[in-house]
This record gives sequence, structure tokens and C-alpha cells, in this order.
Amino acid sequence: MAKRDYYEVLGVDRKASDEEIKKAYRKLAVKFHPDKNPGEKAAEENFKEIGEAYEALSDPQKRAAYDQYGHAAFDPRARAGRGGGFYGGGFHDPFEIFREVFSSSSIFEEFFGRHDPSQPQRGDDLRYDLEITFEEAALGCEKKVVIAKSIRCETCAGSGLEQGSKTRVCPTCGGHGVVLTSRGFISLRQTCPHCQGSGRILEKPCKTCHGDGRHEHNSEIKLRIPPGVDTGSRLRSSGNGEAGFRGGPAGDLYVVLHVKSHNLFQRDGDDLLCEAPVSFAQAALGAEIEVPTLDGKVTVRIPAGTQPGATFRVKGKGVKNLQGYGHGDLHVRVRVQVPPHLNAEQKAKLQEFAALSGEDANPTDKGLFGKAKNLFR
Ligand SMILES: [Zn+2]
Ligand SMILES: [Zn+2]
Repeated sequence: MAKRDYYEVLGVDRKASDEEIKKAYRKLAVKFHPDKNPGEKAAEENFKEIGEAYEALSDPQKRAAYDQYGHAAFDPRARAGRGGGFYGGGFHDPFEIFREVFSSSSIFEEFFGRHDPSQPQRGDDLRYDLEITFEEAALGCEKKVVIAKSIRCETCAGSGLEQGSKTRVCPTCGGHGVVLTSRGFISLRQTCPHCQGSGRILEKPCKTCHGDGRHEHNSEIKLRIPPGVDTGSRLRSSGNGEAGFRGGPAGDLYVVLHVKSHNLFQRDGDDLLCEAPVSFAQAALGAEIEVPTLDGKVTVRIPAGTQPGATFRVKGKGVKNLQGYGHGDLHVRVRVQVPPHLNAEQKAKLQEFAALSGEDANPTDKGLFGKAKNLFR
């Protein structure tokens, strides 16, 4: 399916101001938020689409790139070469954008009714930092983590009520949720301390959760980590955050990844870098050397006359791209090793070699300093 124009998605003019873009996004985000359209796939798609459009158009640099190049500005496939281009790496989580725009916004509460404590409330999102190995990040893995968080109370199915009991009108505030207190001439409206503003109290609170509808629990959560993640990658585990209040939906769990370093490989985006030690003779004469990759060894041919630091590319032996655009490459950097010890025969041959190359046969006697002596005389 062809991607729709971002301005069209948000229903704004190409010259729209930042404020107009934000306003349009807010209106649409509330309309299509999955909490308001449970189970509707089309609404969820719309919600993602407007999140992506807003992310692109709310950032001046991204907007300028989009105005000039269209969707190609954000498409890693359209990039001229590795490392070039504009914005690789795709888009953020639409829910994150949503929260950013609506944080400290009263519109949010108006639309979702979250200010009313008698209503079920969505549970909080949680963050969990997870350390994984280099291979786990590159190849993907499954992890089990144990997180202390609140879960829905099974005894009362989240209602907070003991079986067979009901809620009744709060006797303190008469169901209004607020009480008036007067200090001298001043009257103050306060949230009712008895029912916390809900206007109703629980006849008999559930004994397991004391009326909260949820309780603390060490929950084991299975995470599927896709290949290609890196330090800083965030995974969203839907519904695995804190349980909702009085039967509200659970929040989400965000797992932030930290990747340990590797003793052979370094990572550069999807590319891998490793060093291969070769002898002086191999570098000078050319050789076939074995190089480790993430899935076994490969043979790399290095030509005669290879210099220290020369790099050879093994195509497709890097890390799988997280967005599904193939694999990166493996770059093998040659480290030429000088033998720390020579036996008498080796020494004689090397001196012979040096003489053939027109060098002094005993270079340690007249090295750089021997020449320098003549210079400063
Ligand atoms: Zn009350
Ligand atoms: Zn309970």
C-alpha cells in the first residue's frame, strides 16, 4: 500500500504552523486511540499513521527533509549508501509520541475521563533495563524477566469487592465526591477523604487486595528480542505494565536494552568490525585467512603486499537490520604482527632479505639515531 502524504494524514495545509499541526494531531490521536476503539484494527493503523506523520512534521529538520524528498527522506532503502542519507532507523513508538504530546495536558483527562477516581484507570507504564550479550542482540533471543509489579486481583477480578458485596453511596459526601470545609469566612471544596472523590465506597473490600483491585506480585514475563537491536533499543511489551485501578486496562512495559561488548567484534550500526592478526610473510606474500563471523568462520583472501590496517569487507556477514532491510557487512582489519623472537636461522634469512632490499644488514646498529647523528653533527 502506498504511503499517504503526511499533511493529508493530519488534514493540514502544507504551510500549517507548528501549533496547527499539534492541534490536528491531538484531535486525531484522541479519536483513534486504541483505548477508545478496543479491538479495531483500522483505528490502530490510523493511530500509528498519524503518530508517524506528527513525528515527521513536528521536527523542523525532518519536516524540511520531508518537504524536499517526501517519504524517501525516511526510507533506509532510498539512502545513497551506507552511512549517508537522512533518517534511518524508522519511527518511534506511536504511544510514546502520544504521551509526549499529551503529558501535562488537561485535554487528555477530559477525553479519557481519567480525572474521575471512581472510574477504572489505566495502570502505569513500567521501564525495565535489561542487559544482553552481543550475540543475543545481533541474533535475537528470548528472555524471561521477573518484575515486581501490580497485577489484577484474581479474587475479585479487579473490582475491589468481596464476592456478593456492592458499592454504596459514600456517607461522608453523600455521593458528591467533594466536601466543603470552612475556615473562618472561607469555604473550601475538597476531595472527599473517605471515598477519595469517587462518591461511592466499597461495602466489603476484597480481603486479598484491600479494595484496590490489584496487588503486588513478582511476575515472570517472556520477552522476544528481535535480531538487530542495540544499546538504547526500546521494546514495548503491551499490557505488561502495572495493572489498572479497579479493572482498568494494564499499562505497558518498556524494556530498554543494554548490549555488552564483545571480545572480537565491534558494532557500527548493522556493520561489524573485527581485527585479524596476520604474519609479516602472509601480508607480504598474500594469504587466505580464516575469520570468525556470527555464524561460523569464513575465509578471506588477502592479496600480496597488504599493508597494516588494510580493511576487507565480507558482504552480508554483519547484523540483521532491525527493520528487515537485509544484513550489514563484516569489516576485517588486518593487524600485521612482528615476530617478537627469531631463532638464529630466521634472523640470518631476514638479514639476507634486508640486504636484498638494499637495507643495512644490521639495522639495529644504525637505525634512526645513527642517521640523526650525522644530521646534528
Ligand atoms: Zn465521599
Ligand atoms: Zn481483590
